[in-house]
Amino acid sequence: MSTLIDGKALAAKMRAQMGEEVENLVKETGKRPGLAVILVGADPASQIYVRNKEKACESVGILSTAHRLSAETSEEELLKLIDRLNEDPEIHGILCQLPVPDHICTDNILQRISPQKDVDGFHPINVGNLVLGKECLMPCTPAGVMEMLNAYNIDPEGQHCVIVGRSTLVGKPLIQMMLNKNATVTVTHSRTRDLASICCQGDILVAAVGVPELIGRDHIKQGAVVIDVGINRREDGKLIGDVDGVAAAEVASYYTPVAGGVGPMTITMLLKNTIRAYKNAYGV
Ligand code: NAD
Repeated sequence: MSTLIDGKALAAKMRAQMGEEVENLVKETGKRPGLAVILVGADPASQIYVRNKEKACESVGILSTAHRLSAETSEEELLKLIDRLNEDPEIHGILCQLPVPDHICTDNILQRISPQKDVDGFHPINVGNLVLGKECLMPCTPAGVMEMLNAYNIDPEGQHCVIVGRSTLVGKPLIQMMLNKNATVTVTHSRTRDLASICCQGDILVAAVGVPELIGRDHIKQGAVVIDVGINRREDGKLIGDVDGVAAAEVASYYTPVAGGVGPMTITMLLKNTIRAYKNAYGV
């Protein structure tokens, strides 16, 4: 019998708790947590993501301020805005929605955001602290994966975790998070030979690839925990993951659906990071 890991329900439960926590903290500090979201250009998908982040903030009592800038905004102007937000005591978290237009250097932007306000966990200081196993703001999607495992009492300690995908956003930070929980970690990627035989060894198998249903029955060990980070849109508009969901439901002990799995957890972890940054700012 396979158990579905319900990310949507977990996210809703966490947000309800965060809403209460925020109101208590506002009474204590007299200040409300503030998140600044920067969007450069009019990419339709990015506009939806930013709107969703604003709505999520409202739902837990975080003040969100969106800075919607034209696609022609120069890197210098963007850096000046970040400098202003870094200094603004009402703003505790800053994120710049990626991708930014080609004339802007992504690294320069990410490195300019104060590490204390870096709620995406992309600043090299936060990346370094994650590697060192120290307290830091962590990238939201892999942090959401760890939160889901924890909520379902799945302890990575001693387990073999196979990660498919080595992106800076998901795969690489997840390696560290799993190591920090004493898992044995194998990471695979587009140049990996005989992917199925490696995936089959995973007690915990995480797919973060962006290739629809790459992971099939042959990749899943009987009784494994299967986490599907992938979000792919089929021609008929339906969202599907990197894992064949039917196979996962038959072979895995636990598995995440797409949609309603990792997706809702990502924004929830952004809220968690913003509250963390705010608490750090007031020492509460
Ligand atoms: P990416 O394109 O940056 O990285 C993909 C990784 O997959 C690379 O490391 C690449 O080497 C590897 N890869 C590609 N083809 C492969 C193959 N055939 N075999 C093995 N490895 C292969 O992607 P990303 O940003 O990490 O995102 C991955 C997926 O996760 C996408 O579908 C994305 O939409 C989704 N995603 C979901 C969330 C969420 O909130 N649920 C957040 C971020 C990304």
